[in-house]
Amino acid sequence: MNLMTDCKKKHSYTKMVMKIGFEIHQQLNTGKLFCRCPSELRKDEPDFKIKRKLYAVRGETSEFDKAVNYEASKEKDFVYEGYNDTTCLVELDEQPPLEINQDALNEVLKIALLLNCKIFPVTQIMRKTVIDGSNVSGFQRTILIAKDGFVETKYGKVKIDSICLEEDAARIIKKENNVSVYRLDRLGIPLVEIATSPSMNNPEQAKEVALYIGKILRLCNVKRGIGTIRQDVNFNIENYPRVEIKGVQEPTLIVKTINFEAERQKNELNLKKEVEAHVRKAEADGTTSYLRPMPGKARMYPETDLPLLKIDKSLIEKINKNLPKIIEPEEISKKYSLSKDLAKALIDSGNLKILEKLKMENVKPAFIAENLIKYDINEEDFIKVFEKLDKGEISKNHVVEIFEKLSKGEKLDLDEYKTFDDKEIEKIIKKLIEENKDIPFNALMGMIMKELKGKADGKTVMDTLKKLIK
Ligand SMILES: [Zn+2]
Repeated sequence: MNLMTDCKKKHSYTKMVMKIGFEIHQQLNTGKLFCRCPSELRKDEPDFKIKRKLYAVRGETSEFDKAVNYEASKEKDFVYEGYNDTTCLVELDEQPPLEINQDALNEVLKIALLLNCKIFPVTQIMRKTVIDGSNVSGFQRTILIAKDGFVETKYGKVKIDSICLEEDAARIIKKENNVSVYRLDRLGIPLVEIATSPSMNNPEQAKEVALYIGKILRLCNVKRGIGTIRQDVNFNIENYPRVEIKGVQEPTLIVKTINFEAERQKNELNLKKEVEAHVRKAEADGTTSYLRPMPGKARMYPETDLPLLKIDKSLIEKINKNLPKIIEPEEISKKYSLSKDLAKALIDSGNLKILEKLKMENVKPAFIAENLIKYDINEEDFIKVFEKLDKGEISKNHVVEIFEKLSKGEKLDLDEYKTFDDKEIEKIIKKLIEENKDIPFNALMGMIMKELKGKADGKTVMDTLKKLIK
């Protein structure tokens, strides 16, 4: 295959022995995992703030974790901000967790099956020590759901080691001196964590796997946009200990970041520096920087507030029967007469399902698709607007304004955009003709359109006006 020879020519890494694996974290688009609060990030001022300190605890192996001690040694104060109506005592760790969110569990099972994994019939909910303050309790709940899956690539099969369902951490708002301020709105949002085996030895293969997993995730009910997906790359060359690179933003940056890191590790080995396993941060330009020591195995212990999680065979069978399929842009382009680019963007946006639900007589699929890829609005609102547009109850002139407002989270009364019916239009035109005798047709037409504020379409107004001044 030509690609391999090309790689050899361009990069020296093909001669280097390397191990690449990654962990992908993706937020699910369901309610929170262990309480019934909505998974909603808020921009408005919080209703309350509380202050806490965190201390290191021993893990299951009764040792203190190296990374945990590192954080605890900094002696910080943590402030948590919350809302009375969208965060509760579970996020504050003042009330035990509720039963697991079934929608989130179903979504993870779907992802596991699409990645050919074996699902555990019974599994233990675990606590993973996190002491940077991003979890009020000092731990994050995580559940091993499935193992031993695979992804096919043109360089061969890549094993999926594990799929976990986890709680997202609280969101950092600011760090000042020894105080870190976190917001509770993100804490507890369900995350799927997909870990590949660290067996890939070619960055191009890693990129292919990342892109494929991205496609699979977009078939499922996941959150979209910045910050909803995070990719960490595990990487080391021969004789170098494992390095975890946090937050590689784009699949396209994987190759660049790995090449940078390969060179960096090679240089350190050449300089005979003492090296140890650690965590690095992926920078936006494809370089990496030191973050902290590698966490050890001492950080997991069982969640004692919740029973073992049983996953019924019948549930797995039911989900398996209704698995979504990867959709190719060509198929959608043909079906709805869209350009291939628009079809691809629509699939990537995850909003194709909305177009498929709509039964429109007057609104063209291309118009719908363009709006579906442009705005971040919930399905229900999209459908309401398009249905009203199709029935002529709102005018196309107002669609941009309506979508702009909805995507900013403004509450709208769509009745305010109601179009005039034919009788109302006739009445208004008649009145204006009476009041403005002897003025030119175009001026009159302009006057009428202004009066109607875009709530009637031009052709209807023109026809009515012509009829009335005959
Ligand atoms: Zn809650």
